[in-house]
Amino acid sequence: MKTLVLPVDPTTPDPVAIRQAAEVLQHGGLVAFPTETVYGLGANALDAEAVQRIFAAKGRPAYDPLIVHLAGPEALPDVVAEVPPLAEALATHFWPGPLTLVLPRGLHIPLAVTAGGPTVAVRIPAHPVALALIRAAGFPIAAPSANRFGHLSPTQAVHVLDDLDGRIDLLLDGGPTPVGVESTVLSLVTPAPTILRPGGVSREALAAVLGQVDVTGRVFTAEDIVPSPGALKQHYAPRARLTLYQGTPQAVLPALHAAAAQLATAGQRVGLLLAEGDAVAFADLPVIVQSIEIAGGLEGAARQLFTALRALDRAGVTTILARDFGARGLGLAIRDRLTRAAAGNVVKVENA
Ligand code: AMP
Ligand code: MG
Repeated sequence: MKTLVLPVDPTTPDPVAIRQAAEVLQHGGLVAFPTETVYGLGANALDAEAVQRIFAAKGRPAYDPLIVHLAGPEALPDVVAEVPPLAEALATHFWPGPLTLVLPRGLHIPLAVTAGGPTVAVRIPAHPVALALIRAAGFPIAAPSANRFGHLSPTQAVHVLDDLDGRIDLLLDGGPTPVGVESTVLSLVTPAPTILRPGGVSREALAAVLGQVDVTGRVFTAEDIVPSPGALKQHYAPRARLTLYQGTPQAVLPALHAAAAQLATAGQRVGLLLAEGDAVAFADLPVIVQSIEIAGGLEGAARQLFTALRALDRAGVTTILARDFGARGLGLAIRDRLTRAAAGNVVKVENA
C-alpha cells in the first residue's frame, strides 16, 4: 500500500484533508496523526478488524492494549462501564491533555483494544488535528504511538515514515508535536490512583489534584502479566546501545567524560545526550553531542528527547551515553524512557 501524506496546519487544519482522513478511518483504514504528545496510529476503536490492522502495521504484540481517544467527555460513557467521580475531577483538570485514565471497559469496546482485559485506557488529546479527526470520523479512535513496536515514539511526520511508510494508508503531517513524550497513564481501577507510566502530565500536577498518587516501581519483563506494557523493560529504544548515567550533574559529567574518552579510544563511535551548557566540557573529545534544554519543568527537554536520540542513531553512533535529568516535572517521564531505552543498563554515579 502507498502511504498518502497530507500536510495540515496544526492550529487550523484544512477540513478537506480531515474529511479525507476520516473517510479512510470509516473504511477500516489506518491514519497516523499528530497529538500533543507524539504521533498516533489511529483506527476505528469500535471496529475489531480495523484495530487488528494497527497491531499488524506496528508489529505490536496482542498483549499490549491501545489508548482510546475521544473528542469530548460526553463520549466517555460510550467507552467505559463506569465514570467514577475521581475521573470527572481529573477530566476537568487535565482534559484535553496528556493524561490517560484506565477505567472499566465499556461493552462496545472490542477486546482487541484492551488486549482481552477488563479495563480500557482513554484520553482526550489537546491537539486541533486530533480533535478534528475524531469529530469528523464520528467514533472514538484507538491509537498507540505511530512507530514499529519497541522503537522510539515519533514526534515528527518524518519519524512516522521512517517506521511505517507503505504500511499505513494516510499520514496527516501537522509538524512537530508540542509535548514530545507520551501521555501519563493513570489507573483508577487500583485501590489508590496509580501512575502506570509517567508522561506529559507530571506527578506533581496529579498530586495537586489527588493529594497523593502512587507510581508503579516495578519494571516488567515480557513473561509477566503486564499491567501496562509501556512498562516493559526494553521499549522506546534507539538502535545504538544506550547507557544512562544517574547521579548529580557534578558527579555524572566527569564520569561521562571519562567513559566517552575510553570508548572513543577503543574505536567506538560515541554519541552523548546532554543538557544545554554541558557540551563545552566535552569539546576535546571525538564524540557526537545532542543537547536538550533543561529550563523550567523540563518541558523543552521532553519535547526534544526523541528527536535527539533519533539524530544520534542517524549519525551512525554505535553507543550512546546519556545523562539523567532528575525527577522533577517531566524529568520522571524522561528518566523512564531513558531507563527503558537503556534496557536496564544504568550506571549510578556517587558524589566524589
Ligand atoms: P502507546 O500509545 O504506544 O504509548 O501505548 C499505550 C500505553 O497505554 C501502553 O503503555 C499500554 O500498555 C497502556 N495501556 C493501554 N491500555 C491499558 C489498560 N487497559 N491498562 C493499562 N495500561 C494500558
Ligand atoms: Mg508506544
